Amino acid sequence: MLRTLFAASVVALVLQTGAPQAPDQFFGIKIGADGELARYPKIVEYLQHLAKTTDRVKFEELGKTTMGNPYVLATISAPENLAKLNRLVEINRRLADPRGLTEAEAKRLAQEGRAFYFIYGTIHSTEVGNTQSLIEIAHRLATDSGPDIKQILDNVVILLVPSQNPDGQYLVVDHWYKTKGTPFTRTYPDLYHKYVGHDDNRDWFMFTQKETRLAVDIQNRFKPIITHDMHQKGSGGARIFVPPFDDPYDPNVHPIIAQGIMTAGQAMASALVSQGKGGVEWLSTYDLWAPARQYMVYHGQPRILTEIASVNLADPVVNGTGVPIGPQEARWNFPLPYRKSDWRLRDIVDYGDTVAFAGMAHVAKYRTAWLENFYRIHADWVNRTDPPYAFVVPAEQRDPFETLEMLRILRIAEVEIHQAKAPFTAGGKSYAMGSWVIRTAQPYGAFAKTMLERQKYPDLRLYPGGPPKPPYDVTGHTLGMLMGVTVDQIEQPFDAMLEPVKTPTPAPTNLPLLGRGQYLVAPSSNAAFIAVARLQAAKIPVGRAASVPGLAPGTWIVPMSGDSGRILFEVARETGLVVQTSDAALTGEVYRLKPQTRTGLWRGANNMPAGWMKWVFEQYGFNHKTIASSDLDGDLSAQYDTIVLPDGTSRSTIVNGLSRERNDKEWSWAYGVGEAGWKKLADWVEGGGTLVAIGSAVETARALLDLPIEPALPEPRPAGRGGAAAPLAFYCPGSLLQNEFNTTHPVAYGMPATWPVFFEGDQAYRLKPGFTIQSEVVSRYPAQGPILQSGWLLGEEFLRDQANVVAFRVGKGYVVTLGSQVDFRAQPRATFKLLFNAIFHGPSTRVDVSQLRREPKMANAK
Ligand SMILES: [Zn+2]
Repeated sequence: MLRTLFAASVVALVLQTGAPQAPDQFFGIKIGADGELARYPKIVEYLQHLAKTTDRVKFEELGKTTMGNPYVLATISAPENLAKLNRLVEINRRLADPRGLTEAEAKRLAQEGRAFYFIYGTIHSTEVGNTQSLIEIAHRLATDSGPDIKQILDNVVILLVPSQNPDGQYLVVDHWYKTKGTPFTRTYPDLYHKYVGHDDNRDWFMFTQKETRLAVDIQNRFKPIITHDMHQKGSGGARIFVPPFDDPYDPNVHPIIAQGIMTAGQAMASALVSQGKGGVEWLSTYDLWAPARQYMVYHGQPRILTEIASVNLADPVVNGTGVPIGPQEARWNFPLPYRKSDWRLRDIVDYGDTVAFAGMAHVAKYRTAWLENFYRIHADWVNRTDPPYAFVVPAEQRDPFETLEMLRILRIAEVEIHQAKAPFTAGGKSYAMGSWVIRTAQPYGAFAKTMLERQKYPDLRLYPGGPPKPPYDVTGHTLGMLMGVTVDQIEQPFDAMLEPVKTPTPAPTNLPLLGRGQYLVAPSSNAAFIAVARLQAAKIPVGRAASVPGLAPGTWIVPMSGDSGRILFEVARETGLVVQTSDAALTGEVYRLKPQTRTGLWRGANNMPAGWMKWVFEQYGFNHKTIASSDLDGDLSAQYDTIVLPDGTSRSTIVNGLSRERNDKEWSWAYGVGEAGWKKLADWVEGGGTLVAIGSAVETARALLDLPIEPALPEPRPAGRGGAAAPLAFYCPGSLLQNEFNTTHPVAYGMPATWPVFFEGDQAYRLKPGFTIQSEVVSRYPAQGPILQSGWLLGEEFLRDQANVVAFRVGKGYVVTLGSQVDFRAQPRATFKLLFNAIFHGPSTRVDVSQLRREPKMANAK
């Protein structure tokens, strides 16, 4: 719709001349003006407009985001390059997999090829400035006729994604305008990605979210030689960070990539300094360890992270005293202090423009060197002879579903997988036919190796003998351990009859026979919970062996019927779940799950663990609901059987919640429930509810119910990632730690006797005598043997024999506390079962197996 006659005449003019409009004209606001932000849909239109009115831009919608918004890409280059884009991509692919390519051929391809520069902004949606920058960057690339831009366009193909999280752009920018002139907080108070919020930049090895997959598709399709990821940091300190990064970097990152990160980063720093843009800093804060933040460095490319100081979303930061902002002393990694006392959105946009063009100009100037390096990185990987030779995933696994999921993750990252056509021996161990082999000598061997090996994080200190230097993120990410999959690292070459596997698929499943008996499912696969959710939705009774002669504790028992057979067959076909049939007359006792077990998720505003959990519950199809503060006005037991408090749910989250004064009614679900609500939650547990608390929420549950446990780790609590210097005594910033499980306890059903749990600044517990509350330890840290399995741990002895998972009887209710974050970012799937078991076991009833078929009446059914 055209709003004014003036606008109509402008449009007519454009149609006539086909000339591209400048951003200010198109958006009707001055880009970068205080308080003003261009909205995402208009940005998409603008890229389309540039594609229509110039011959340098190709526009594509690549798919829809989590909330159904378009995820778009502008491919920008000289028209001659766009005309032969397929050929240029073919060259990239050839250099990325140089098997059979001679050095001379590679050199020739590097001459013919173009450097692909992938640039995106606002994966973190409150870091709004960079998307505004990308509007100007696209415009200049599309229209500028000067020699600098010509050199870029002739040598570089720019892959420009205006926002890596479009949903967040809608939420944050719309909220900004909606709250203008109101007493309400202007920064969006909740997660700006439906599920994972800020952790959308921690998903680059599990690829769980749609936006991650869309960006990985760009990486895999075009094979860029560099990725520029534009961020913003806090408003104090340096004005911008550019690479090189701080220590440590993952040794699997090729040294050529480390060098590329330095040279491109320093080209940006030089441009800023030359233009008099003060406050640029490097070698600080940001390290290059965790693959959760960096797909590209395992795919032949430098990761260029730029972090520009923020303003108050779009409003300026002004030092009232006229004192300049940030440090004022020059250092080698900070040569030009920022001398002004204000910092505005326009500054962010300008700094963003400068670093983007400096990066592009640099790769344009040294195009062939960059392409040759891209080739050399991959040539080194495919010709690698250093150990380990391979990783073997044995065919026999406790959880075929997560094994497949792990292999699928590797395939998304284009890791080559082979499967054995016959039994073989490797590293002195025999492997069955069907076992998988992942060799390290392959183009993306770096990704495979970092994901499958154990991490040995360097013991970095702030000064010699001093406290640990906190990593930027977590330190352990061994995929097999996270997912409950046995993976063997094999040092030396071995022979085996192998064939490549493109798409790992479950073993074929036979339709379970119909009869008078029951279906039996071992408790070890997570996929059983997908089946449970579907069986419950279909009102089919589900039991677990408590003490049934001939069945392992926790074995799932489902009475045979047409519907139960169909559901189990479907799940088996999708996931590889092993379903057995039995016509034996069972005796003994089972835990009969409460029909359609109703789970409440306490989701404090902006709580990422709760967002991840919401995503997990949806993946499994659990019958769940986010608890709203108004639910505490009514009868909790009429709505929930189990309530889960994710990590980060504090007493204050529950009692105070979001302020009513600062947040409008649409946020009422997250308002505090007050002391009355707090008391009501305690009463609900004692009256028969099941409460499950994870990570820091264990302390909340302990305070709520006076649980007989106390923290076992030295005070003060270990600092989390990025936190202040921790004491020397104990430190564990995100590692995999060994646990021993009581596998006969219903909360540990399906777990092996020992397996690592994920621990990130968490707590371990000692039991205290409880006079009215019964406690049972479900898992503990071992009294002997190594506890650290992958990552970094200081003060192992403090964990010795201390409890991690504990179950309690509180009145008529049931409580399970999981001290370590067993569901951290939905990554440690090996320990999902502890959470799921707790959710379903609490409300279950122990009955004679003969009563399994009989559906109990739902006491609180509406
Ligand atoms: Zn960021």
